[in-house]
Amino acid sequence: MRVSQMLIPTLREVPAEAEVVSHKLLLRAGFIRKSAAGVYTYLPLAWRVLEKIQKIVREEMNREGGQEVLMPIMQPAELWRESGRWDVYGEELIRFKDRHDRNFCLGPTHEEIITDLVRGEVNSYKQMPLLLYQMQNKYRDERRPRFGLLRGREFIMKDLYSFDRDEKGLDISYKKMYRAYSNVFSRCGMQFRVVEADSGAIGGSDTHEFMVLADSGEAEIVYCENDDCSYAANVERAISAVGEDSSNEVPSRLQEVHTPDVGTIEELTSFLDISAEKTIKTIIYSADDEIIAALVRGDREVNEVKLYNELNCLHMELASAEMISRVTGGNMGFSGPVNLDICIIADHEVKNITNAVTGANRTDYHLINVNAGRDFEPDKVADIRMVQAGEACPYCSSPMTGARGIEVGQVFKLGDKYSRALEATFLDERGKEQYIVMGCYGIGISRVLSACVEQNNDEQGIIWPGAIAPYHVVIVPINVKDNDQLNMAERVYNTLSDNGIETVLDDRQERPGVKFKDADLIGYPLRITIGSKALESSELEVKKRSSGDIVMIPEENVCEKVKSMLSY
Ligand code: ATP
Ligand code: MG
Repeated sequence: MRVSQMLIPTLREVPAEAEVVSHKLLLRAGFIRKSAAGVYTYLPLAWRVLEKIQKIVREEMNREGGQEVLMPIMQPAELWRESGRWDVYGEELIRFKDRHDRNFCLGPTHEEIITDLVRGEVNSYKQMPLLLYQMQNKYRDERRPRFGLLRGREFIMKDLYSFDRDEKGLDISYKKMYRAYSNVFSRCGMQFRVVEADSGAIGGSDTHEFMVLADSGEAEIVYCENDDCSYAANVERAISAVGEDSSNEVPSRLQEVHTPDVGTIEELTSFLDISAEKTIKTIIYSADDEIIAALVRGDREVNEVKLYNELNCLHMELASAEMISRVTGGNMGFSGPVNLDICIIADHEVKNITNAVTGANRTDYHLINVNAGRDFEPDKVADIRMVQAGEACPYCSSPMTGARGIEVGQVFKLGDKYSRALEATFLDERGKEQYIVMGCYGIGISRVLSACVEQNNDEQGIIWPGAIAPYHVVIVPINVKDNDQLNMAERVYNTLSDNGIETVLDDRQERPGVKFKDADLIGYPLRITIGSKALESSELEVKKRSSGDIVMIPEENVCEKVKSMLSY
């Protein structure tokens, strides 16, 4: 293509609305334009990248036996009522009525539709395993659409669903997808980590997330530094090492001390001159209709996802100040487990503290020398705290590193959650009716594009990995009014194009500086400059975007050299 004919509206200014680098660069380099919050048009360059990502995904899905389908985006409410999700999905689900007053939603995911399809078409064990997938727009009315394509309200997803006759079959399908996903992200040229994740509202058991490491990532992960161990998890899920009380201290007498205006752990530790590890933080929550207390060591944070799972409730939130004083008798900041008459859930570490300091359930007072088992008895001891970077790995005790990640994909064992709700059954070898065992597997195609930019950029712009670059080469004639230069540029352009190398010719009547800036901003892997020197010597200057290295290559070898420089 000739750049003069292409829609690549680059911008010099950094758009004010963009917070993260991928959003800024995709706007500036003319890849995307916004229609509404979280709703974008993909311009020609972006669409080429998206098609390449989709091609890689398709190849890897097909390699594992996936069959592509395309399901409706418009989904009838009846199916969502059958699965029980119409009422629980909440405001993220975009709902509407047709002219006959029938309820519909725009698909945020397709478990209902696919399970409905499969229950009608599959009735024997002989028809499984079955792996069906599609790539299409998904709709989620996110509370905070942001970061451009990273968190949109309309975005492209690949979703695959596996159908097996038993758990063993599901294990195999799950492994296939795990392998396929690793291949997809490696082929896209991304640095990623697979982490254990929380199964959350979808239900089911095993689940892993594929995280692209980036400082702007919304997810926090920890991973073990020991390469032989390889434990890695989303912090929502990360298991904390239990540890033990290593002090030889003897329990002392429980005492109340006056601590005026000392309501935070920092104030408490400096007032009493103790370390935070000797304190117990008591956080009061309202969980469905009950008020509960969660205890963690003073230097730790409650992990609300773990707590929520432990409580097995539908709705959980921090208790109000008013509720706290009503149930404890003291103001917020002075709660403690001693003589507290509500359900108490303590983190493992809490019972290891000898002579701890806690709130006294009386404003401006704390208790010292509090000992679990003697002064209070938790109703439950469980892992409810947030793992922090630097902590010991729960499996091998090596230190763990913290990092931020962008979730680009997730694999999920659903089990019979949907097949049971929608009565999707089959007859096994003995003619017995069984529920189909399912898994679901998603990749955020449009998020992958952004995540890739997030990982591959510099001050000048995007640096596309060869495999998903919109084009491989841009040819820049220095002076397009010079016919000889333009002819040479055309000749090289035709040679490369005829050999399957995706090339654009920047034939615009612009200063070379402008074209160079655009080339760097857009991030073509290679730039070939053609000026008077090239005409004299028949040597072409080729610049590699990623390293900035410049090599001179004779025109007659251009194809072979360019191909080897692009090797990906
Ligand atoms: P998140 O936790 O980021 O909201 P999710 O866990 O709800 O994502 P899934 O239901 O697992 O998302 O969807 C599969 C994939 O779709 C995700 O791994 C992600 O890559 C992509 N995805 C999800 N929500 C969005 C969104 N709002 N914008 C772009 N991509 C998304
Ligand atoms: Mg997910």
